[in-house]
Amino acid sequence: MRLVMLSAALMLTAAGSAHAEKPLPQLDAYHVDAAWLTPVKPVQISDHVWQVGTASISSLLVKTDAGAILIDGGMPQASDMILVHLASLGVKPSDVRLILHSHAHADHVGPLAALQRATGATVVSNAESAVLLQHGGSNDIHFGDEITFAPLTPGRIVQDGEVVQLGSTALTVHFTPGHTPGSMSWTWTDTRDGKPLKIAYVDSLSAPGYRLVGNPRIPHLVDLFQHSFATVRALPCDLLVTPHADGSGWDYAAPSNPHPSPMTCKAYADAAEKKFNAQLQAETTRGK
Ligand SMILES: [Zn+2]
Repeated sequence: MRLVMLSAALMLTAAGSAHAEKPLPQLDAYHVDAAWLTPVKPVQISDHVWQVGTASISSLLVKTDAGAILIDGGMPQASDMILVHLASLGVKPSDVRLILHSHAHADHVGPLAALQRATGATVVSNAESAVLLQHGGSNDIHFGDEITFAPLTPGRIVQDGEVVQLGSTALTVHFTPGHTPGSMSWTWTDTRDGKPLKIAYVDSLSAPGYRLVGNPRIPHLVDLFQHSFATVRALPCDLLVTPHADGSGWDYAAPSNPHPSPMTCKAYADAAEKKFNAQLQAETTRGK
């Protein structure tokens, strides 16, 4: 009944206006580069770390002496692929005890709800990201309701600098807000070639299409980015890995993996800052 009245009202509006309004757009799926959706065989990165995602979106398996940790899952449709990749490395769903993430966008946390159900693992997040996870990415500051994913509730909320431990493996979280308010980077020490290897999984530092200055939803966005550039430069970082692999020079489909000379954290932050400053300059110029 209500619907009928509504459409009648709409018809009246349309008839009464000089210009017929266009139909609303169809809901369109989130279209991305093929490499984001191309599975690759797991790539061993260090003695206990494997990439188990696609050619260009990271999903890291960290094996410990008390079960497995998964960091990020990639796109929403990646959950079954990840479980198959884990099985190929001898990891059962119930072996996964913790699921960590970088930032709450559909191309990195898309399958976490499904993986949480399949594994029973505790999802570790922070307060800012938890809001987005619980809303399935809707009402995003910059993307609105454009890019959504199955919602989930994290089981543990961490603070900046907190250590997440499983067995003898300890990962430290570093808040690097900007790309999202809850963006997180993770550092831990593994081994490779008989030597300790400080791994830094550093979040995206880009601002794709964002309004940087005077954004009513996030007034101090420029300060946040600048703080994060400095944080990333100072991270312990023998080996940099990023959610978008190409952001740090990785290509998981390349034959020469693990990457023989990946970007340093400092170079990653410098490049991001340079791009950010150019974007800021362009926005400021446009605004004049
Ligand atoms: Zn993102």
